Amino acid sequence: NAPTSHLIQDTPASAALLNRARAVTPGGVNSPVRAFRAVGGTPRFIAEAKGPWLTDVDGNRYVDLICSWGPMILGHAHPEVMAAVQEAATHGFSFGTPSENEVLLAEEIVRRVAPVEQVRLVSSGTEATMSALRLARGATGRSKVVKFAGCYHGHVDPLLAAAGSGVATFALPDSAGVPASSAHETIVLPYNDVAALEAAFVEHGDQIACVITEASPGNMGVVPPAAGFTDALRRVTREHGALLISDEVMTGFRCSAAGWYGLEGEPEGGAPDLFTFGKVMGGGFPAAAFGGSADLMSRLAPEGPVYQAGTLSGNPVATAAGLATLRGCTPEVYDRLDAVAHTVADAASEALAAAGVSHTVQWAGSMFSVFVRDGAVRDYEDAKAQDHAAYGRFFHEMLRRGVHLPPSSYEAWFVSASHDDDAVAHVLDALPHAATAASA
Ligand code: PLP
Repeated sequence: NAPTSHLIQDTPASAALLNRARAVTPGGVNSPVRAFRAVGGTPRFIAEAKGPWLTDVDGNRYVDLICSWGPMILGHAHPEVMAAVQEAATHGFSFGTPSENEVLLAEEIVRRVAPVEQVRLVSSGTEATMSALRLARGATGRSKVVKFAGCYHGHVDPLLAAAGSGVATFALPDSAGVPASSAHETIVLPYNDVAALEAAFVEHGDQIACVITEASPGNMGVVPPAAGFTDALRRVTREHGALLISDEVMTGFRCSAAGWYGLEGEPEGGAPDLFTFGKVMGGGFPAAAFGGSADLMSRLAPEGPVYQAGTLSGNPVATAAGLATLRGCTPEVYDRLDAVAHTVADAASEALAAAGVSHTVQWAGSMFSVFVRDGAVRDYEDAKAQDHAAYGRFFHEMLRRGVHLPPSSYEAWFVSASHDDDAVAHVLDALPHAATAASA
């Protein structure tokens, strides 16, 4: 596992694949952030991943600080997850009938997150939030949804809307193809702003089906809820008969064994009504879920009138990977995540300070991000006010030195329990050079 000893200069095989990919796939990628548009340059096509290391098609090695945007909490190709996947695959790939792994995975989730009595399995975080939203609308008979600027819940039409600052702004679609009628059902509010929340409910309270929030946002960088904000979400939704959806797709089973809920504890006034999960619970395979009380979940087909389905939902290989991953998330794993995250974040902060680069590190459990700006980041407007160009220089110097950060300054840095001392040392070696590049 020796780190790449030389600087990575050229990546001709990645460049060639990107050219071919562009001919047959928009932008050459199957998810936009992978195209490196925010930082420039050529995305690396990865051929192999093991533990904390990625190897690209040119044979360059990188310490991975993306971890597939969260799922790879145990590291890549973890032996126990690999064995579970191989074992499951020998029994067939997809049945289109119920199977035991689905029950085991559901039981594992329900056991961890106390307010969740039942879950429905789906294949992506987007499906989870889309379905939770439909259930909330079906259960309340209302159509409006409140979301927060800077929170990402997948590419669900009404949840793609994000507005500029301002209270209770009726959102414009953030993407072509989202009908105005859909965006008009969405009220976008600034995060961490209780007054804006209360004002929106005073005006539209009887039409609001739900508030959806990232349990602790990680998609504008890591911006944890201010003290009392989650309580306020619970109080205001209760007062107006709206549901509260806590999106734990990113934080679930990462911030703690029970996700952000396990870390922050139950809000004053009771738990959120619905939770969404993804990423870690699929162990790198397409598995996600939404869940809540048995009473609420009973509104779903076949028991109730809210329709939701999926050919590959509860796929036996994906659920085997998810189950093995969750079972592998021992207290020691969470300790290692904390230790690695703090070592890397502290070193990044030290290096940036030494290079005179203003920055702020924010945390949600072992999830953290580094903002290239001074002062606390409380909402999306704060997150936007960063030196994005400096992050781009920082990113590319890390990449040249064999460390793959998220290619955007709005993302959390993800570590895994497989980030051993070797991998961490490699990151620490690169950081001062990258900080110097950022300061240029
Ligand atoms: N919700 C949150 C909080 C997310 O971070 C993401 C993805 O990053 C999603 C939902 C969508 O999940 P997926 O990409 O699996 O559709």
